[in-house]
Amino acid sequence: NLSDRITASLKGLRGHGRLTEADVDKTVREIRRALLDADVAVPVVREFTARVRERALGEEVSKALNPAQQVVKIVNDELVQILGGATGELHFAKNPPTVIMLAGLQGAGKTTLAGKLARWMKSEGHTPMLVAADLQRPNAVNQLQIVGERAGVPVFAPEPGNGVGNPVLVAMNGVSTAQFQQHDVVIVDTAGRLGIDEEMMQQARDIRDAVNPHETLFVVDAMIGQDAARVAEAFRDGVGFSGVVLSKLDGDARGGAALSITGVTERPILFASTGEGLEDFERFHPDRMANRILDMGDVLTLIEQAEKSFDQAEAEKAAKKLASGEDFTLDDFLTQMQQIKNMGSIKKMLGMLPNMGQYREALDNFDEREVDRIEAMIRSMTPAERNDPKIINGSRRNRIAKGSGTTVQAVNQLLERFKQAQQMMRTMGKGMAGGGMPGMPG
Ligand code: GDP
Ligand code: MG
Repeated sequence: NLSDRITASLKGLRGHGRLTEADVDKTVREIRRALLDADVAVPVVREFTARVRERALGEEVSKALNPAQQVVKIVNDELVQILGGATGELHFAKNPPTVIMLAGLQGAGKTTLAGKLARWMKSEGHTPMLVAADLQRPNAVNQLQIVGERAGVPVFAPEPGNGVGNPVLVAMNGVSTAQFQQHDVVIVDTAGRLGIDEEMMQQARDIRDAVNPHETLFVVDAMIGQDAARVAEAFRDGVGFSGVVLSKLDGDARGGAALSITGVTERPILFASTGEGLEDFERFHPDRMANRILDMGDVLTLIEQAEKSFDQAEAEKAAKKLASGEDFTLDDFLTQMQQIKNMGSIKKMLGMLPNMGQYREALDNFDEREVDRIEAMIRSMTPAERNDPKIINGSRRNRIAKGSGTTVQAVNQLLERFKQAQQMMRTMGKGMAGGGMPGMPG
């Protein structure tokens, strides 16, 4: 998959002090291949890799990151950028109702999405109404009615006298009924075809012109991969749309469709559909999608925080020590605790690292205020004691407890905890000797 390919290509950069043109070109070639394999549309791949290359060559090597980490960061930044940057928002009309029209191929997930969107909006305090303007398939109206019932949202369906057989009339009547009944949002479900055809586009255009939607959402199945770019272009030119909904993201799709669509149409992806149930729906976050494409947990966030709070020299010293698995003293323990405290919540931080499940229990027992008490105790120790805690006998424990205003039990606990940390550091140290940060491509 894409992330493995990028990770593998970045492995080649281990140990290099700076990014040479040859390094960058080799990595960019791998990224290009990986993106094409992940079904990203060719023009998007071309532009993307050109941007990554330019930045990787142009940027000074950061002090806190190794070259591989730096390229990961650049790739991530560019992924977020191409996916639209910030999380997109729906625009609501000044004078309700806000009209939202759904468009897309048959089977894309429009009707399902109509229910999800309605349910979500209701939970946000809106009073949506659904309009069944898909009269193409015999069962389409009924399907929307079922979905609406599940979402607890009323559905406007064609009946004799309000536009049977005419989706444009149904849509118009639906919107005016919603207005009359003071719904603040109307979601208009429309028909699709299995393939793009002019008749379908014309019908969608007619509905659009009749109801003047504030938002037209193009719903697309993420599983169709780079075809998504072609379909999205057809809908952009044929109907026009303001935002995208990516459906079936619960499948194997790894972001090819997302990158293709946003790369080609420059419209934001607003929502993601992740299953058949009404609750399988979320707002789309470009940064999370980028992470998913890279498949690295929130490692990048961690890198950013580390960049901000770690002193480079200290970090290198600590890493060397960790890698050796020896000489981890109470002073180091204290320094580490303080750095971790600076970085924010230790639980949050370590939770971001992949493969940290094994330390979960230790994390759950961590109390940040403890750091202050621990600091007091360690400061009450002599240098010899800090270097070799084994010499801390009963009377020394007593003295340390008194000196730090704590208790002998607290000192015992600290020493026990230090022993555990030392053990953990040794384990992590072995991992680091093999490849940079735990879980990171080295
Ligand atoms: P429409 O033709 O665009 O209205 O598509 P539908 O809403 O009828 O969905 C087509 C099929 O895809 C249905 O069987 C849905 O249950 C299914 N479906 C829709 N969205 C999702 C999704 O996010 N994940 C999965 N796994 N299935 C979905
Ligand atoms: Mg439908």
